[in-house]
Amino acid sequence: MVIIGAGECGARAALALRENGYQGTVTLIGTEQHLPYERPPLSKEAMVSDEHPLPRTIAGSEQFTEKQIDFIGSSTVVAIDRPAKGLILEDSSRVSYDRLLIATGALPRALPLASGSRHCVTLRSYDDALAIRARFRPGARVVIVGGGFIGLELAASARKRGASVTVIEAQPRIMMRGVPEEIAEVIAERHRQEGVVLQCGTGISSIEDTSGHVTIALANGEAIEADLAVIGIGAVPVTALAEAAGLDTANGIVVNAWLQTSDPDIFAAGDCCAFPLAIYGGRRVRLEAWRNAQEQGALAARNMLGAQEPHEAVPWFWSDQYELGLQVAGLADEAAHTIRRDLGNRAFILFHLAADGRLVAASGIGPGNAVAKDIRLAEMLIARSARPDPIQLAASDVKLKSLLAA
Ligand SMILES: Cc1cc2nc3c(=O)[nH]c(=O)nc-3n(C[C@H](O)[C@H](O)[C@H](O)COP(=O)(O)OP(=O)(O)OC[C@H]3O[C@@H](n4cnc5c(N)ncnc54)[C@H](O)[C@@H]3O)c2cc1C
Repeated sequence: MVIIGAGECGARAALALRENGYQGTVTLIGTEQHLPYERPPLSKEAMVSDEHPLPRTIAGSEQFTEKQIDFIGSSTVVAIDRPAKGLILEDSSRVSYDRLLIATGALPRALPLASGSRHCVTLRSYDDALAIRARFRPGARVVIVGGGFIGLELAASARKRGASVTVIEAQPRIMMRGVPEEIAEVIAERHRQEGVVLQCGTGISSIEDTSGHVTIALANGEAIEADLAVIGIGAVPVTALAEAAGLDTANGIVVNAWLQTSDPDIFAAGDCCAFPLAIYGGRRVRLEAWRNAQEQGALAARNMLGAQEPHEAVPWFWSDQYELGLQVAGLADEAAHTIRRDLGNRAFILFHLAADGRLVAASGIGPGNAVAKDIRLAEMLIARSARPDPIQLAASDVKLKSLLAA
């Protein structure tokens, strides 16, 4: 069993192969020099901790040794030789496989205007995080290009470190893709309270390095000078290896319900794959979310061993900005109407219902973990394709648990 990509998904898959009793060889190959680590802290705790942050590893080297997982770091797979069932690494060495998992993740989407600028950076890896953190100094002028989750988490972290922050978003509002307007407005207001300048609805016409800083010219004629610009305009799946090997790809490596690619001996999982989501009628989606990468890693491992179990989980992700915790379960784009439930202490949940009354998603925001329990229950309702009574959904004295029992 060979896994390409030692991130969240690949590492979880390697461990799961052993947890499921597999006794043959397990090889985990990753480009990065570090042991597999968690990415979510990189835009949050790792940016603001007083102490130098260390990568939060998913498993230590002792664990890999004990479980006889052969972890090959600092090593990039450059080709999959399907007829020979082998991989070619960049040092020209070869690794052969019986079953292969591609868990190559995603990389930040490049902004061509920023190419060549020394002051424009992106965040994906621990090394990127260290480089950004070193430049989030008190008084530094930071521009974040893109008002998505990672950009906004970075904006909050940069403010905590005393930098001045401007967020530039081409869409009319922040988090256009991820959350409804009512929630985006709560987050936008919190950023404004912290002194973050949000410039929405404007594109960038040029980016130019000038002695020690960068000048970003906006389409509306304004120019912003910054010491650092972080480009956070989304991520693209890493599919080149799969494409070159002739596997089907379409916004990700195309897999079936049990995460198998168009080659039955090759699986793909995590941020790099596009999979059919059973609870939404088998619609093909690609998620960039931590829990999905974990769950799919474990599922891919079971299916590499022959289980043929479909992926049925409800999508879920979270984001932390300042003291606010945001969580979203399900996919809201099929929603026809929205019901609001107030949870007290400024926390609330929006339930998104399809035209036929099915609960398809729930998004919540509040201090700390305030929405976690109810989002968890909403997730269970979504998994059952429940059609809860909208009046009961809105009534905060009606326990969601009772709707689940009904
Ligand atoms: C800064 C940041 C904050 C995040 N915060 C959240 C959050 O709050 N909530 C949430 O739900 N999700 C969050 N995420 C998303 C989450 O971390 C990802 O969904 C998850 O890491 C995906 O796991 P993966 O294993 O599919 O991909 P990755 O973690 O990207 O791992 C893929 C690995 O494959 C390696 N690789 C690629 N090509 C090759 C090759 N040819 N040969 C060898 N190795 C290769 C890469 O170097 C990489 O290490 C965040 C992501 C980032 C970057």
